[in-house]
Amino acid sequence: MYSQVLDREVSMTKSIAADSDHLDVDADGATLRFPALWLRDNCPCVECRDPRTGQKFLGITDLAEDTAVTAVEQTDTEVTVVLGPDGHRSTFSRSWLAGNALDDGDPGDGRTERGKRLWLADDLRGRLPEGSWADYLADPAERVRCLDAVLRQGFVLLRDVPCEDGAVRDVAESFGYVRETNYGSLFDVRVEATPNNLAFTGLAISPHTDNPYRDPVPTLQLLHCLRNAVDGGETGLVDGFRAAALLRAEDPEVFAVLAGTPVPFAFADADTALRADRPLIGVDPAGRIREVRFNNRSIQPLRLPYQRIVEFYAAYRRFAELLVRPDLLLTFRLAPGDCLIFDNTRVLHARTAFADTGDRHLQGCYADLDSLISSLAVLRRKVDA
Ligand SMILES: [Zn+2]
Repeated sequence: MYSQVLDREVSMTKSIAADSDHLDVDADGATLRFPALWLRDNCPCVECRDPRTGQKFLGITDLAEDTAVTAVEQTDTEVTVVLGPDGHRSTFSRSWLAGNALDDGDPGDGRTERGKRLWLADDLRGRLPEGSWADYLADPAERVRCLDAVLRQGFVLLRDVPCEDGAVRDVAESFGYVRETNYGSLFDVRVEATPNNLAFTGLAISPHTDNPYRDPVPTLQLLHCLRNAVDGGETGLVDGFRAAALLRAEDPEVFAVLAGTPVPFAFADADTALRADRPLIGVDPAGRIREVRFNNRSIQPLRLPYQRIVEFYAAYRRFAELLVRPDLLLTFRLAPGDCLIFDNTRVLHARTAFADTGDRHLQGCYADLDSLISSLAVLRRKVDA
């Protein structure tokens, strides 16, 4: 015990500087700088955080505005700062500090274009991200692979999901929760005698995202093919982030018009009156693409100043033309048992027309990405353990 304490003191360099509003730490030749207040706010000690939950006890107004580093003690593995004005001691491991360096390296929550693998149709033609339902259920590593495809590439195709009524719910509940909407907890995509949506006819449907008139929008959609014995009725997918990135590269001003124009989306029938005003391309505060909302069927009259309407219509047309470019539109045919899970904030879906006398029946539901991402992270803990 005594020798341990001695070793620690020998290897510790104690530098007492004048009060500083920051800490500099050497890490592999580079210097990492952290503000004193940031350190105080992230102190891991039991006075500052509940050890059971990891949650913070203190809020910003509990922390002194003039928080300063008054002393620093360093070992090979840890850095302890004494923070004024109250002399609180905070100890951080060097590896934690290095992993939380103040730079642009944080991939964030994985929802923006930064966390994605963007694709063109050719990138995935003949090699769709897919897996079998049986393997998905049996093998956590396979589940990780499939759910990761939804997060990174925007979709996965699960094969051989039993062609039974309600099986799509089992798929949603394998990673999260069904999001019930005005279409019910599950909905059937087939020809209806009195449709409340063109989806329930045999008409071709151009690339779109679903429920743009909802805020929050359902962030995932599942479509399970029960029968598809018709001519036509092929499925098309477009990576909306790739399309938006292409638009930004080709014409940044058009991109800016779409990112900066709220579009009124609405849906109404006898029991429902929904409206949400959101741009066709949503970006985060750093300008990264975070959401695409595109659905020609539900756009209401825009009522902006005249010149902005003119600019919007030109930009809207540019984006719509881009979305049907053959290099972006990935088409394939769903077979009975196929269940598509896709990111409804990114991937647009479409279908070709089919004879409305034929037998085509998809059953679908909505769910949400946050639960999928959480399930994926928890699964990874187990798989990596
Ligand atoms: Zn503390």
